Amino acid sequence: MPSRVLEELRDPAISRGLLAKVTALAEQAAEKLGRRAVFMEVCGTHTVAISRAGLRSLLSDYVDLRSGPGCPVCVTDYEDIDRMVAFAREPGITVGTFGDMVRVPGSLASLEREKARGADVRVFYSPADAVDWAAAHPEKQVVFLGVGFETTAPTVALSVAMARAKGVKNYSVFSAHKVVPPAMRALVADPELALDGFILPGHVSAIIGRRAFDFIAAEYGLPAVVCGFEAVDIVDTLHRLLTQVLQGEARVENSYTRVVREEGNRRAQAVMAEVFAIGDASWRGIGVIPGSGMYLKDELADFDAARRFTLEVPPPRIPKGCLCGALMKGLLTPRDCRLFGTACTPTHPVGPCMVSSEGACAAYYQYEQR
Ligand code: SF4
Ligand code: SF4
Repeated sequence: MPSRVLEELRDPAISRGLLAKVTALAEQAAEKLGRRAVFMEVCGTHTVAISRAGLRSLLSDYVDLRSGPGCPVCVTDYEDIDRMVAFAREPGITVGTFGDMVRVPGSLASLEREKARGADVRVFYSPADAVDWAAAHPEKQVVFLGVGFETTAPTVALSVAMARAKGVKNYSVFSAHKVVPPAMRALVADPELALDGFILPGHVSAIIGRRAFDFIAAEYGLPAVVCGFEAVDIVDTLHRLLTQVLQGEARVENSYTRVVREEGNRRAQAVMAEVFAIGDASWRGIGVIPGSGMYLKDELADFDAARRFTLEVPPPRIPKGCLCGALMKGLLTPRDCRLFGTACTPTHPVGPCMVSSEGACAAYYQYEQR
C-alpha cells in the first residue's frame, strides 16, 4: 500500500483496515457491475485531497473517480470572465476579487494581465473588507466579483446587506454565483456519464444541509454521501458508496456529521435568500442550467454591477485544444488533454482547470504524475 495514502490518513493503524475493506468492496462492486464503479467528486477540494492521498491511482483498477464541476473558478464561463476583465478596464472602477480569480484566463486577457497594464484589481480576504475599502475611497467604484457556490454566496450577500446598512453607495457586486444541486441534476441526466454515485461537497452541504441532496436517491436512484476533507473521510465515503452499490440501495448518507447538519445553516440560507434571486446560469462546458445562478434581487439593483455598468463584451474566444469544458462534465480526465503538462502547466496555464488550486488539471499535475 503506498505510504503516501497512509501518511494522509491520520491514524494509519485504523485506516489500513478500512482501506483494505474498501479495496475488497471495490473489487466485488466491479465484479457485480462488470466494469469499474464510477463515482464523481463534486468538489474541487475533494479532487485535490483524492489526488494528494494517492487514492485515485490506488483504487484505479476497480473504481473510476471522476472530477466534476466542483471548482468555482473552473465553472465560471468565459463570457463572465471577459465581463470581469471589462470591469477592470473601465476607468474609475476598482475590481475586488478572491485570489484565485486573478490568474484565470478569459478569452483575451486575465485580471492579472490587466493589473500589470495599470488596472486597479485588488484581492480582498473577504467581501466585507471590500465594503470597508469602498467606504474609505468614495472617489472609486468598487465592483466585487462574486464567484463560487453556496459556500461563498452568504459572505457576498452579507457584504451587500452591510453596504446598504452603512450607506456605501460606491460598492456593487457582479454575481456569477452558482447553485450546486441543479448542476448535479444535469450531470445525472447525461447518459454519457453513467454514474454509480456521488461524493457530495462538504462545505456546500454545511450550508444547504444533507437533506437538500435527497433528490439524488429519490429521483435518480443513485447513492450519494456527504464527505469531509481528510483522506479518512474520503475512504469512509467510498466504503459507504460501495456498500450501497453492492446491496443495490440508494441513500444520501452523511459521513461528515461533525460539520454537516440535516437542514444546513439556516442563517446563511436566510441571508442568501434576502439578497439573491435564483435564475438560469451558464456553466463552462455544461451550458445553461435552469435555476443554477444567484443574482441580486430587483430591490438591490443599485448594488448590482451588471445593471449599474452596462459594458459591451464581444463573444468569447475559447482557447484551442483546452478540454476544461469536458472535464467539468466528468467525461474526460486531464491526461486526455494534449496540452496537459506540455503547453499547459501551472506556470503557463491555458485553461482555468490548471490555474485554480482546486482545478483538476492542477491537482493531476501536482500529485498524479509520480
Ligand atoms: S467551496 Fe468547499 S465544498 Fe465547495 S467546491 Fe470549494 S471546497 Fe468544495
Ligand atoms: S490541461 Fe490545460 S488546456 Fe488542457 S484541459 Fe486542463 S487547463 Fe485546459
